[in-house]
Amino acid sequence: GTPIRPQDTDQLLQSILSEARQNNQGKVASYIPALANVDPECTAIAMVTNQGQFFQAGDADTPFSIQSISKIFGLVMAMRRSGNTVWQRVNMEPSGQPFNSIVQLEWEYGIPRNPFINAGAIVIADMLVSQYSTSKLAFIGFLRQLAGTDRLYVDEEVYESELTHGSRNAAMAYLMHSFGNMEADVDQVLEHYFYQCSIPITCKQLARSLCFLANRGVDPFTDESICSRRDAHRVNAILSTSGMYDQSGEFAFSVGLPAKSGVGGAIAAIIPGLGAVVAWSPRLNHFGNSHRGMTMITRLAEEMGLSVFGV
Ligand code: GLU
Repeated sequence: GTPIRPQDTDQLLQSILSEARQNNQGKVASYIPALANVDPECTAIAMVTNQGQFFQAGDADTPFSIQSISKIFGLVMAMRRSGNTVWQRVNMEPSGQPFNSIVQLEWEYGIPRNPFINAGAIVIADMLVSQYSTSKLAFIGFLRQLAGTDRLYVDEEVYESELTHGSRNAAMAYLMHSFGNMEADVDQVLEHYFYQCSIPITCKQLARSLCFLANRGVDPFTDESICSRRDAHRVNAILSTSGMYDQSGEFAFSVGLPAKSGVGGAIAAIIPGLGAVVAWSPRLNHFGNSHRGMTMITRLAEEMGLSVFGV
C-alpha cells in the first residue's frame, strides 16, 4: 500500500487523544495491588505501519502491564510448534461468558472455547511448557524479537501478585487436568501463564510487535516469517470474534478490526495490510476494556475508514 500521510496522522492522533482525555468513566483493575497503583490518567495511542512509519500521541513510551494481550503471542508460539494439533485442545468459538469463566469448561469436557479466554490461554501455556525447556525465556525472547528491543523484562511485583491471587486460574487448570487436557506440571503451567501476563511494554513496542499479523505473517521490520499466512488469518479471525472479552460482538459492529484488550488498560488492534495500533489508558469498563482506549480506537477506525468489514 501507499504510505499514509504523516502530518495528517499525527494531528489525528493528537485530536483523538484530547477527546479521549475527556472520558473519565471506569475503574482501574484492582484484583492485584500492583495494577491498582498505576496512574489512571495515563493515556496513549501509537500506530505503526508495515512500511516502518511510527505515529504516536500521549504516553506512548510509558510501559503498562501487557496482561491478556500476551495471549496472542503465546498462541502464535504454540501454532509454530504444534500446527493443527492446537485445535484439538482448544476451540475457536466465542464464549459469551466472562474471560475468567469456569462453567463452560465442565460442559465442554475441559476444552476451552477459544485461546483468548483464560482457560484457553492456560492450555496454550501448557503446550509451551511441554515444548520448550524454558518456556518463560522463550516467550520473552519472542516478544523482544518482535518488539525490536532487548529491554523487556518481567515485572516481579506483578508476577508475584498474580501468583498469590491466582486461585481461579488454578481451579481452571486443575479442572482441565481432570479432563486430561493438561500435559505438563500444573503449577509450572500457571507460572508460565502469569509470567507472560506480567511483562511491561509500551504502546509503541506492542504495536510494532503485532505488525506481522497485518502483513500475512511476515515481520515487516525484519522480513522474517513469524507464522504462515494461514495462521495469521486464523489469529485475526479469532481476535475478531473473541479478542475483546464479552464486548467482542459490539467491537466488531462498531470498529471492525481484529483486536485484543487486557486488564492493564491496553487495546491492540490489527489493521490488515496497514499495520497495528495500540491505545492505552487504565480505567476499564465493566467488560474489562479500557474506556479511553475504546474511544480512541473507535474514532481512529472511523476517521481512517479501517474496518475490515467496510471495504
Ligand atoms: N492476569 C489476568 C488473569 O489471568 C489477565 C486478565 C486479563 O488481562 O484479561 O486474570
